Amino acid sequence: MREPPALYDHGPGTPLDVDRAFYGRLAQEVEARRLVERFVIPIRSGRAWTVPAGHLCRIVAVEGPQVGDFNAWNRHNPRERFWASRTRQLHGTHVTTFDRLWSCLPYLRPMLTITNDTIHYGIDEDGAGCHDLLGTRCDPYVHKLLDGEEFDFSCHSNLVRAIAPYHLTEFDVHDVLNIFMVTGLRRDGRYFAKASPARAGDYFEFFAEIDLLCALSTCPGGDLSVPIWGPNRGDPLPTCRPLAVEVYQPAPALLAGWSPAQAVDYRGGHGLRSP
Ligand SMILES: [Zn+2]
Repeated sequence: MREPPALYDHGPGTPLDVDRAFYGRLAQEVEARRLVERFVIPIRSGRAWTVPAGHLCRIVAVEGPQVGDFNAWNRHNPRERFWASRTRQLHGTHVTTFDRLWSCLPYLRPMLTITNDTIHYGIDEDGAGCHDLLGTRCDPYVHKLLDGEEFDFSCHSNLVRAIAPYHLTEFDVHDVLNIFMVTGLRRDGRYFAKASPARAGDYFEFFAEIDLLCALSTCPGGDLSVPIWGPNRGDPLPTCRPLAVEVYQPAPALLAGWSPAQAVDYRGGHGLRSP
């Protein structure tokens, strides 16, 4: 079947092209890196942490499959945050090694570049992929709407509690990247999810292009192998597992020629003119 051309070109020399040799070296030369921080996020909870520009961060499925809902902000300006829909247009419905997460307007820069994704899921026979940008976080409002339940440990609430120490609130939580989550769209356009394929030790690693504040929720849906809505819903608690976060400083020599990403320098003022 002949497909239409993609709307956004990633070809060599385009603004969306990435230096694969540079990011490949960062991924491969693990012996020269220094572990700066490591912690484990227990099931059905969240945590926020900072990643300095030029550092690497790994999200690890330490005990097996588990979906992680991820948010990111400019560490110095929380109005600049991850923009899931633009990232989806520029890269795809699911992201992997050498894709980037982009920030919202009026900034639009790569916040991070994915350096290593051990899942290698690709696109399956149902058109599904892993590391989902189609969906968003689970939240207590949709729980109340759909099943009448008051539930405080959905990803939205886990992220709210995680960022409180950074003086951020519910209004700062935004559409997520669902790490380790397999999703797709049916032929009728409706969203579906499948069980996470992550195995113990699988990880999703990225390079911070600017100083980042990150937050991650261990989804109460666990590995999504148990339906959480509808007539066949079960209890996903036995499928909930922790996720680990590791922050590394790469060997300085690997960063030769790199500098933090800059926001797009649009100065047109949207055509507004003062009298
Ligand atoms: Zn969730």
